[in-house]
Amino acid sequence: MPKVGITTTIPVEVVYAAGWQPVDLNNSFIASSNPRLLVEEAEMAGYPRNICAWIKGIYSTVRKDEQIKTLIAVTQGDCSNTHALMETLQLTGINVIPFAYPYDRDYDMLKLQIEKLMEAFGVNWQQVYEARQKLNKVREKVRKLDEMTWRSNLVSGWDNHFYQVCCSDFNGNPEEFNKRVEDFLKGSNETAPKQEKIRLGYIGVPPICDDLYAYLEERGARVVYNETQRQFTMPDSVGDFVEQYRKYTYPYGIFYRLADIEREIERRNIDGIIHYAQSFCFRQIEDLIIRERLSLPVLTLEGDMPNSLDARTRMRVDAYLEMLR
Ligand code: SF4
Repeated sequence: MPKVGITTTIPVEVVYAAGWQPVDLNNSFIASSNPRLLVEEAEMAGYPRNICAWIKGIYSTVRKDEQIKTLIAVTQGDCSNTHALMETLQLTGINVIPFAYPYDRDYDMLKLQIEKLMEAFGVNWQQVYEARQKLNKVREKVRKLDEMTWRSNLVSGWDNHFYQVCCSDFNGNPEEFNKRVEDFLKGSNETAPKQEKIRLGYIGVPPICDDLYAYLEERGARVVYNETQRQFTMPDSVGDFVEQYRKYTYPYGIFYRLADIEREIERRNIDGIIHYAQSFCFRQIEDLIIRERLSLPVLTLEGDMPNSLDARTRMRVDAYLEMLR
């Protein structure tokens, strides 16, 4: 099965329909044995210090994995740095397939982009819909896991994050991932409900630090809503394939995302919001809109390199939770 790297969630059904294996490079980078080293290696190759660590990690991940010779790069709707990322990878011989989410969610433009992707992988609509049918069965189970997080309090914030974030590429093996989710659901159903008093929402890109969720739970708060990660499960999946990726909020600007966030805050009975902003990310600017629009207390956390929470961030989290209590 040939591998294709993806820089963020794309219509992954196309890749599976073609018999290729997608690799979400973000997940691959952060789950590697030494993600910090990958960032440093990109810097040694010439990446500037003041560029987001995710981009540098993705660059080194592709360079290291000899099986990845093709990359689907999302040039609109994800990251302003992806253009340069794909160019530096093209320089090393990687074949790049660009994919663009239209900013205004234009149906025809999105359909055209999906069809161009299908052409690149040599698949037709029937094959794509067949692949979707299989993936939707897994997505349904992960959506159940999400519901078990906020409705029956049986799932931790980290597990909610992890299983949803894996839905970008299904860990490259939907059958195996499906089994893992089933086992997890079974185990969770047999545990006692969690007792944390403070219910939090997490919005923004997934965190680069690995202990945020655990730290919050240690302090009596639990994330019951992971905004971007939840979107990877296509929660508003509909019959039409193009429409599915129109309803997927992440690539379409902050106001469309906020409508989803506000709905979920209400539905999940959330006390406060953590907005995670990555150092050197253009999305940090959106923090001012988020603060203006949301009526709940918002704590903005910034992360830079892959590591654990630093003392200053822990103190800010503590003060925020005290205020919510
Ligand atoms: S965190 Fe921001 S700058 Fe970094 S890869 Fe994601 S969108 Fe790009």
